This record gives sequence, structure tokens and C-alpha cells, in this order.
Amino acid sequence: MKLLCRVSPRVAVVFDVDDTLIHSDSGLEITAGVDLFHSCVASGAHVFIVTARPERARRDTLRELATVGIVQERDGTAEGFVSLWMMPNGFTADHVAEYKMRARAAAKKAAGGRFLMTIGDQWWDCVGSARVEEQLVHKTEPDGVYVLTDMPVREPATVAIKFPDLFDDS
Ligand SMILES: [Mg+2]
Repeated sequence: MKLLCRVSPRVAVVFDVDDTLIHSDSGLEITAGVDLFHSCVASGAHVFIVTARPERARRDTLRELATVGIVQERDGTAEGFVSLWMMPNGFTADHVAEYKMRARAAAKKAAGGRFLMTIGDQWWDCVGSARVEEQLVHKTEPDGVYVLTDMPVREPATVAIKFPDLFDDS
């Protein structure tokens, strides 16, 4: 599957890490996610990476991302992501949905409060409310990818792309 898009410059984009950019089991790249990442960066978007990995895993996470060609931008040039946000140490799985939604709001604000696109393999990467999930859970997309445009009112993201839980990108 190919997921390429052009987004307007100065738009904020949030990517999850595990099973969005990198296969969590093998560490290999997820082509659709990495291609989309590079498309967004090339378009001049402000790209933020938001993971539920704990802060103590920052060094390993940056290294793993670098192995699939994803690096932080340097000196404000649009070569990579703006910043990597990780869950504060001590947070648990119970905090993920709230943490991710707050991170989306912060990314949108950091980019000037414009349009925000979010990409991930879990519903909490897409929506802070279960309402959209409830509407879609009985509907199956052929490739398992959902593109959500009808977002809940309190959700910071304007558009969300949900990857399948297990991405077959062969
Ligand atoms: Mg994930």
C-alpha cells in the first residue's frame, strides 16, 4: 500500500512510532509510514513524533528512527521532525490516551494553531474520544487503513489516519 500525500506548508503533523514508522517486533521500517513522513517533511510541515515509549528510552528511540532514515531537523531546516515527545517516566498505559491528546494539542499550538494531521496504529493516536471509534469499529476498510475527517469537537486533530494494528506493507 502506498500512502503518499502533499500537505500544505506550516501544517502540523503528528506521527506515532511503534507500528506506524517502525515494526515494534522487528524494528524494521513501515514503508507506508516512513514514506508519508518524508512527504510531510518535504511539504514543509511541522512534524512531531509522539510516542508512548517512556522518556528513558529516548536515546534508543532516536537511534531506531535514524536507522529508518528519520532524523530531527537541524537549524530549523525542514529535513526532519521538529521534536520527539515521549511519555514522562512513571506514566502507565492508563495515561496514554490523555497524554497523546494533550501532545496533539501542544503540537498544533507549537505550529501556530493551524490544521493538524495525526497518524498512528491505535485509536488513541487518532481521537481522544471513543465516539469515532464506536462509529467505525464495525466497518472494515479493505486495507485496514482509516482516514478520519469527521473529528470530535474537542479533538485537536483535523484529520487522522489510522493504520492497522498489524501493518502488512509488503
Ligand atoms: Mg503505535
